Amino acid sequence: MANNSCIGWKFSGSEAAKEASAASLTTYTSKLFALCDPQGKPILPPRGETAETCHTAEKAVVKAVLCGTGNAYAPGKGLPAAKCAVAEYLNRDDIPKKLTPEDVFMTVGCKQAIELAVDILANPKANVLLPSPGYPWDFVNCILKKLEVRRYEFLPEKNYEINFESVRKQVDKNTFAIFITNPHNPNGNIYSEAHLKQIALLARELGIMVVSDEVFRWTVFGSNPFVPMAKFSSIVPVMALGSISKGWTVPGWRTGWVALHDLDGVFKCTKVLDTAKQFLEINSKPPTVIQAAIPTILKDTPIEFFHRRQSFLKDKADLAISKLKDIPSLKCYLKPEACTFLWTQLKISSFVDIKDDEDFCEKLATEQNLILLPGIAFGLRGWARHSIDMDTLTLEDAFKRLKSFCDHHSTIYGA
Ligand SMILES: *Cc1c(COP(=O)(O)O)cnc(C)c1O
Repeated sequence: MANNSCIGWKFSGSEAAKEASAASLTTYTSKLFALCDPQGKPILPPRGETAETCHTAEKAVVKAVLCGTGNAYAPGKGLPAAKCAVAEYLNRDDIPKKLTPEDVFMTVGCKQAIELAVDILANPKANVLLPSPGYPWDFVNCILKKLEVRRYEFLPEKNYEINFESVRKQVDKNTFAIFITNPHNPNGNIYSEAHLKQIALLARELGIMVVSDEVFRWTVFGSNPFVPMAKFSSIVPVMALGSISKGWTVPGWRTGWVALHDLDGVFKCTKVLDTAKQFLEINSKPPTVIQAAIPTILKDTPIEFFHRRQSFLKDKADLAISKLKDIPSLKCYLKPEACTFLWTQLKISSFVDIKDDEDFCEKLATEQNLILLPGIAFGLRGWARHSIDMDTLTLEDAFKRLKSFCDHHSTIYGA
């Protein structure tokens, strides 16, 4: 066999996803894990482990498997029983117009719900408003679909409310939508009812729709209650995105939804409804067997399951905040009231030999086998996201390593 490389092969890998993949979270995580020493201390947070899963959900899937109700292809828009169950579930919220199963589309996790929202909006000249910082998948998909992204900002001192000035500054005649994340990953806050109403009024004034990613609505543990954006769908059309991934700690089950809260048929007359159906006809679907289990999962999960998880996370947020007091080079503006993270600003000037957030996270992984994600992964330089979803002893260990690392690289001690 002679040299194969001198053959003029007519195929080569496409570069279509190169730029988009570089912005994805897994790219950052894999890079940092590769820097850890597998022979050293246990790597934190442990990879591939999830918190306690809901037994009701497990049993519902087993039943669907044994009954054979989920073996066939499901329709593109989703299994009717699942669509119906999601509509009923979301109708428990205080919303001006109740959803019908026709307003709900089943998706491959909340990620595909985001993809769908981007697909629907991606016209050649369109631009969209995304949060900075924000969950990277929105951004990744916009790059992939060539939808122009404009970033709006937050007010850390005001409970991370949206900076409306920054929204106004970005909008022009080609802006279609504002994406919000509530509860917010990575900021860790929840929007108040009053703030959501202001968002709705502003979007109406600007003529844009609101896409609200509410995947973390079940992991709230602060004093503010979660209010769905759809409460204000009498003011502005709302596309609400969700999944069972975070609430039931089953991200591997890949099942989520898009709900179109359309009071006066705006989505219909702007062809958003038709476009959603068309894309779902050609996209892959969540496994039918999980969809078949959705009615039981949504109806029968005991409220205590969520309460247990929320009190676990609250406990960890308290612990993390108390440990952070001993690390003066990191600043946290808000004790998280939702999600599973702490979001801190790095006082870069207090470090002797650390250039930026990426450098910080890389050295931390290398020296301490501890993974924090750099702010740049969420579109904001100079910050870091810490997971707090670990048992108490593990989280204490993580903070001990973090403190030792920061002390070692800092010019200021104790302060
Ligand atoms: C995890 C996450 C998603 C993705 O959810 P899946 O159901 O796993 O696809 C979407 N949005 C936010 C804000 C998330 O944190």
